[in-house]
Amino acid sequence: MILLNKKIGGAGFYIVLIIILIATIRFFSPPVNTVEEKTFTQFVQELDSGNIVSVKLQNGVDSIADVKLKDGKTFRTVIPQEAADTFYNDYLKAKNDAGSINVVSTPTKQTSMFLEWIPTFLMLGFLVFFWYRIMQQSGGGSKMNSFGKSKAKLINKEEAKNLVKFKDVAGLEEEKEELSEIVDFLKNPKKFINMGARIPKGVLLVGPPGTGKTYLSKAVAGEAGVPFFIMSGSDFVEMFVGVGASRVRDLFDTAKKNAPCIIFIDEIDAVGRKRGTGLGGGHDEREQTLNQLLVEMDGFGTNEGVIVMAATNRADILDPAILRPGRFDRTVYVGKPDVRARKAILEIHARGKKLADDVDLEIIAKRTPGFTPADLENLMNESALLAARRNDNAISMEDVDEASIKVQAGPAKKSRVVSEKERKLTAVHESGHAIVSRLLPEEDPVHIITIIPRGMAGGFTAYLPEEDISFMTKGKMEASIISLLGGRVAESLVLDDISTGASNDIDRATKIARAMVTHYGMSEKLGPINYDSSENEVFIGRDLGRTQDYSEKTAAEIDAEVAKIINEAYAECKRLLSENLDKLIALSDALLEKETIYSQDFEKIFNGEKLDQDSLDKDESITIKDLSDEAKDIMRRDKDED
Ligand code: ADP
Ligand code: MG
Ligand code: ZN
Repeated sequence: MILLNKKIGGAGFYIVLIIILIATIRFFSPPVNTVEEKTFTQFVQELDSGNIVSVKLQNGVDSIADVKLKDGKTFRTVIPQEAADTFYNDYLKAKNDAGSINVVSTPTKQTSMFLEWIPTFLMLGFLVFFWYRIMQQSGGGSKMNSFGKSKAKLINKEEAKNLVKFKDVAGLEEEKEELSEIVDFLKNPKKFINMGARIPKGVLLVGPPGTGKTYLSKAVAGEAGVPFFIMSGSDFVEMFVGVGASRVRDLFDTAKKNAPCIIFIDEIDAVGRKRGTGLGGGHDEREQTLNQLLVEMDGFGTNEGVIVMAATNRADILDPAILRPGRFDRTVYVGKPDVRARKAILEIHARGKKLADDVDLEIIAKRTPGFTPADLENLMNESALLAARRNDNAISMEDVDEASIKVQAGPAKKSRVVSEKERKLTAVHESGHAIVSRLLPEEDPVHIITIIPRGMAGGFTAYLPEEDISFMTKGKMEASIISLLGGRVAESLVLDDISTGASNDIDRATKIARAMVTHYGMSEKLGPINYDSSENEVFIGRDLGRTQDYSEKTAAEIDAEVAKIINEAYAECKRLLSENLDKLIALSDALLEKETIYSQDFEKIFNGEKLDQDSLDKDESITIKDLSDEAKDIMRRDKDED
């Protein structure tokens, strides 16, 4: 019942309203008097017998006649249309002229005509109303009255002042420098206009996800204190034909009224993709929208004070027309932060968080190369959450370490039941990675090794990169492949069997090897030629039509070269691990006992020292009977040499 009431809610109100309306009309319309009615024949009879005093014709000659008799009685009759003219002319009019009766012809009352039409109008109104409601609902929630209105969110001048400022943006000094000119312009457009300077209409922020593009653009608006329209590219591309384009028009119209201001189109690749690609065919909605965007950007004069900012992480798929001067003519690359920027970002996100004395943001910054600002923010937040869960007074370095692994590999799945066999396998696998990496000078130092399952992985080995690197060398890539294979090699060497756990390692190693050959020209046999056309493989439409731009013979050579790199790396990895089998087994045993090993303990094990409390439970260690025949052989030989 309640449900029903709710459903009619709005409509119920209208129904009541209409009932009231009808009642009112009835009330005001002339009272329907209950006059006697007679047929036309009866009327003519009365007329012939001379009983009638007067006849009142309501609506011309062929209509209702109100008749008054000599005895004072009245009646009403209807004069049939086909008889009307002759009856009036030859009969009524003659009698009237003779003076025997009085004939009055009154025109129709306009009001009654109008009143008669009211129900029809009401019906029409109803229909329109319901049609409207239905349209509203089928419009996917978009309001009829804002049909075509842009979905841009406006942050007005006052709100803009509360946005982040440049001082909240850590690192990115050069980027801020570039944008400060635009801030100056927005603050004081006249200065620039008087100089005749042409301020860029559009600024494109390009960079990987989470590097602070949206954040930076908000800071520009916050710094300049101007209105800020924020809109995502996909808002443009809604499935209404033609509406996308009208939304763009709408947005620019509103922006011009609010100038100086910023229009920010986030994820512009959704709308600004290269035209004429994809499976959708030539004239899809997105293309119209893009065209309209380009037209609008050309349309507004340079100094109207509207600056379009846009962000994307796929600048490579943008339509070249977007990037030509006069549109997004300035591109700001927002990259991953270096160690100094990371420290500054950590400082910003450590504000208001209680840190223990042992927490050194500089060390955290050093340990987190490749982290984006979003990752760093997440890291600080996870650390705080962990500390809170542990009821600590402050965030400790341990919390940060744990959070850092969590951010990279997902949360620890402590509750997952892991069989003893699986634990051993993981311990050996991870030890393999760690020991090989330690033996290779190109590889980063090992930071944490754990066999607690997280995310998809059964275990995890984290490294401590010493510096940010912006390019790879051949030697470093080869070392990466060797240490990626470390897990698999250790399994096959120490245990009798190998597992599927290495599939991700193998996948990554193969990708590196293939890139070395096809992308970086590191194969002597194939030379410095790019055989990698994957850069163009952006759209399905293109993919389907893609052709391999080298011969089958070359393809075979590439495969052979890739296989050679992997096989050589495998052999080298096996040599390294065989020579250090005792370390590998010692580390596996320690992992089985402690589950997580930090760099200090790792160094001790690697150097053959004993850990503080060596309480190895015989059950949990890798005993000689677990070892593969090959491993037993190696161990025996080692013993003999000693
Ligand atoms: P993008 O738009 O590039 O994907 P965002 O702008 O959404 O990334 O940034 C994600 C988060 O990272 C922001 O909410 C912000 O808190 C943080 N952040 C980004 N850049 C910085 C920076 N330079 N300084 C401090 N925090 C930053
Ligand atoms: Mg963003
Ligand atoms: Zn692995």
